[in-house]
Amino acid sequence: MASESTSWIMTTRQIWKLYVAIGGFVGGMGLFSLALFSLVSGGSRFVAFVACGTFLSVVTFAWFVAVIRCPHCQAALVWKMILSRPHSSWLIDLAALDRCPSCDTLLAKPTSRKYPTTT
Ligand SMILES: [Zn+2]
Repeated sequence: MASESTSWIMTTRQIWKLYVAIGGFVGGMGLFSLALFSLVSGGSRFVAFVACGTFLSVVTFAWFVAVIRCPHCQAALVWKMILSRPHSSWLIDLAALDRCPSCDTLLAKPTSRKYPTTT
């Protein structure tokens, strides 16, 4: 029964928030990697890299939790999914939501109007 539906994150135009969060997490991982490589050259900047990586990762996570919201009831959907789903699948379940777990409103609109045909 799965047709050409797109994720509700795209139809509600919140996909950029996911990309920003991915960028923040990748940046945090980069800083942790730099911390490890700094050990080769004496480790004088190890603490600074770890502190910056931790700060960037925590801020990114808090921002991601705060900004992905149901367009109808404004529920913080990332936090709801973290609390209610297994840690291994909450992100996949979040992207695959079709109804808001708080207000039960349909999240993804039908895709038929997104690309009007001219036939
Ligand atoms: Zn809702």
